[in-house]
Amino acid sequence: MKKHLHDAARERPLLADGAMGTQLMAAGLEQGNCGEMWNIEHPDRVLAIQRRYVEAGSECLLTNTFGASRIMLRRHAHADDVAAVNAAAVRIAREAFGAVGGYVIGDIGPFGGLMEPYGDFSEEQVREAFREQAQALVAAGADAIIVETQTSLEELGLGLRAARDAGAASIIGSMAYDVTLDGSTFRTMMGVDPEKAAEFMEEQGAHIVALNCGTGMTMERARDAVDRYRKVTKMPIMVQPNAGQPKLVAMKVVYDETPEQMAASVVPLLEAGANIIGGCCGSTPAHIRAFRRAMDMHLAARR
Ligand SMILES: [Zn+2]
Repeated sequence: MKKHLHDAARERPLLADGAMGTQLMAAGLEQGNCGEMWNIEHPDRVLAIQRRYVEAGSECLLTNTFGASRIMLRRHAHADDVAAVNAAAVRIAREAFGAVGGYVIGDIGPFGGLMEPYGDFSEEQVREAFREQAQALVAAGADAIIVETQTSLEELGLGLRAARDAGAASIIGSMAYDVTLDGSTFRTMMGVDPEKAAEFMEEQGAHIVALNCGTGMTMERARDAVDRYRKVTKMPIMVQPNAGQPKLVAMKVVYDETPEQMAASVVPLLEAGANIIGGCCGSTPAHIRAFRRAMDMHLAARR
């Protein structure tokens, strides 16, 4: 039987993949359209993106299901396609690995709203949406579940619980931190800091503590976050920063940190205690290939 992702990550650092959303846009997805439906409508395009990540050296692929919960799919009138969209995504990622093999991580993003009393969604609706998605991902054979781009412990807790109840073999909680206005520190939009997040995840039965996306979270800030996680937990740590800050160029959002710029921080991240490294918004197969080179050199030097 294949090792659990969190056990494998303890033995040696693993390389995850880069962005999906910005790659879908590059492949022709229009702003505001549903990228997750491409798992059914254009599986070949999703497969091509993930194959490029595998060719670049990714050992973990996140399924194209960030917005594939019932609440998110309903916005595109696809609420009834939750099971099919999530199952197709796991199949595509598995196919992208081919004979090489690797870890298929079922991706659960935020439900995209606020819960009562701040917003319109009841806790029950959100719990049910995550439960349904986690079950679909695990039933389709995902090796792990990541509950990502999270900003509140309430929502994170519902996601982690759903993953646990679905029987996921490995569970990752991933927070999106923003650097504060004065630049002195970072926390999530809802005020959660890394120490609190890691403690909460441990209590909730997560196996891997992570961070992704966020505002102002450069590779150096990500390293700070790894340091802070490492001080409070022994869990493996996963890091997926954006390729720099989004900039608006000719009405298009661009991320301009180059593969070389980002890859320069791979070894410092490993030295700080990161176990799985990948990229979020704006990162590409070229970034992952540069990460692969840096990681391989580091591993060879260590031997
Ligand atoms: Zn992102």
